[in-house]
Formats: sequence, C-alpha cells, structure tokens
Amino acid sequence: MARATLTIDLDAITANWRALARQSGTAEAGAVVKADAYGLGATRVARTIAAAGARRFFVAISEEGAVLRPALGPEAEIFVFSGHMEGDATRIAEHGLIPLLNSLEQVQRHLASLPAHPFGIQLDSGMNRLGLEEADWNAVSGSILSENPVLIMSHLACADEPEHPMNASQLASFRRMTDGTRAPRSLSATGGILLGNDYHFDVTRPGIGLYGGLPFEAARPVVSLSLPVIQVREVQPGETVGYGNTWTARKQARVATLAAGYADGLIRAMTGRAQVFADRTPCPLVGRVSMDLMGVDVSHLKAVPEALDILCPKQGIDALADYAGTIGYEILTALGGRYARRYEGAAA
Ligand SMILES: *Cc1c(COP(=O)(O)O)cnc(C)c1O
Repeated sequence: MARATLTIDLDAITANWRALARQSGTAEAGAVVKADAYGLGATRVARTIAAAGARRFFVAISEEGAVLRPALGPEAEIFVFSGHMEGDATRIAEHGLIPLLNSLEQVQRHLASLPAHPFGIQLDSGMNRLGLEEADWNAVSGSILSENPVLIMSHLACADEPEHPMNASQLASFRRMTDGTRAPRSLSATGGILLGNDYHFDVTRPGIGLYGGLPFEAARPVVSLSLPVIQVREVQPGETVGYGNTWTARKQARVATLAAGYADGLIRAMTGRAQVFADRTPCPLVGRVSMDLMGVDVSHLKAVPEALDILCPKQGIDALADYAGTIGYEILTALGGRYARRYEGAAA
C-alpha cells in the first residue's frame, strides 16, 4: 500500500442516521455536517444522508453552507449555527441559507439586510455559549415571533451524561421560553436524542452519532484507517527508538516505521498508549509519535504486513481518543488532508 488510507463507510452513516431518526420518535431528524462533516467530507456525507430522507442540514458557518448547496439542490434546508455574521448577507441570500440568529444584534442585522429571508432563533438555556438569554428573549420574543422564525433552538451542555441535573434544568428553561409558540423547536443533538421523548420537540440535530461516535453506543463504526509500513528494522537490547529516546528495547525487537504522525491527526499524546493492529493482533506504539511517522513493535508477528490499522473494529475513534486524553469528535475532525480517502457502500 502506497499511502495511508482512510476508508469511510457511507452505508454505516446511512444506518446510523436511520437509527437516530427512529430514536427521535415523532421529531424529524436533521443532520449536522459542520467542519466538513466532522472531517469525513461534507458533500459526500450530506448527499448520502439526503438520499436516506434527511431534509434539514446544519453547518457552523455560512461558507460551509455555500459549499453544501450545490451538493444538496434547492430543496434542502441548510441552517447556520453562527447565525448572521457581519458580511454574510450576500452569501446567505445567494445560497438560500437559514441563519440561526443568536443575539439582538444579529436579529437587527438580519431584519435590516434581508427582511423577507427565512431565519431561526437560538436561545441560551444555560450553556452560555450561543443564543439569546432568557431576559433578552422575554423582552423581544413578541416582535421576533411576529416575523415567523422557521426554527427555535437551544443546545444541551451535558447530554452525554443522562443523570446530570443540567439536562432537566435546560429542558425547563427551553420550555419556559418556547411553550405556546408556533415555530418548530429543536433542542437535541446526539446525546439529547438518547435522553428520550421529552427532549425531542420537532427537529433533532444528530452529529457525532452519524459518524460512529459516543454517546451513541449502538452506532455502526464509520471510519477505518490503515497506515503503510515504510521500513522495518531489528533493534538490539539497549537501543532506543524515536525523539527523546523515550523507548528502549529490553530484548531484541523488530520495529516497523509507519507513514503517518501527528500532522495527520494522530495526536502525539497517544504515544506509548495506543496500538495498531495486524488484523486482530495488537502491536504497541514505541517511541514518540512524530510529525509524519510512528514506530511500532512488530516482534511478535510472523510476517510484517504492508500496512497496519490504527482505526479498525478493535480500536474505534473513542478508544483511540481515550489514549490521547480527548474525545472521538476531536480524533475525527483532526484527521489530516494527506490520507487517500476511500468511500465505500451503495452511495459511494
Ligand atoms: C455540533 C452541534 C450539534 C451536533 O452535536 P453532536 O453531539 O455531534 O450530535 C448539534 N447542535 C449544535 C448547536 C452543535 O453545535
């Protein structure tokens, strides 16, 4: 194998979207495809999910929405979490994007520059990240609602911890602000969908679960990542491997050097903890992960394969994330631009 290869299973994405749509009950599931669909390719991913029936898509910034529009055609609704930022009006209008306005300033900007153009509203129910606060909303909700927002949303801070009291507290806050309004409502991302019907409202916004990550434990894995061996050497007892001499051979060892490193999103903090796999046989990383390379102890393998797997059924994104002290989201979005990308599945 010539290049490190990232394989993305589009059928698994479809299956995960369908499962989360079912779990959303009577609410309609959209799909969050911000950050290039968590690093997996927004155009391919969004088309796949649209073919499965999704009609609402969410991105972080209007530039991402502009990329998505030609891929999805004119009918899909594309919502922008950062709302209507300065300089966005032309792009929002040209690509038919729906900004999720998050401050009084944005509301004014939008109504002044694009008065007849659809918009949604973001409310802060306690996360203190984006959205109008309850007091502001109470002061202006009447006039904003008379402009017919197409969606009213908020976001949960602790939905991946079902027992956390923050969930009920944010739910109560969201209901206080929105009960009795006619606009469709949305509160839940992947974690909120799993909290049950009270959290579903009209539209859900799954992201990470589509891509095989926690907290959606039943997710089908979506990515696998295979790294080519570019050199194999015998290391004598007492010799060291890699920067800083952090690993010393205690007995004679065979060490393979793989062609990927932290510049490819294989975070240096996984040094000494993560493993790679030859089929089902684990091989420990040895020495520090460097920018483009990493070392692996393959002494116990009968034959050294052409490539070893770092994301595979034995080690998914969340397991790898644990080794690096992070979360599956960060592993996915950090996957670099140097991989050969292979899409598989019916939609590929
Ligand atoms: C990223 C994001 C989502 C999706 O969250 P997941 O945990 O990946 O499902 C939904 N809503 C908002 C506002 C987001 O920022």
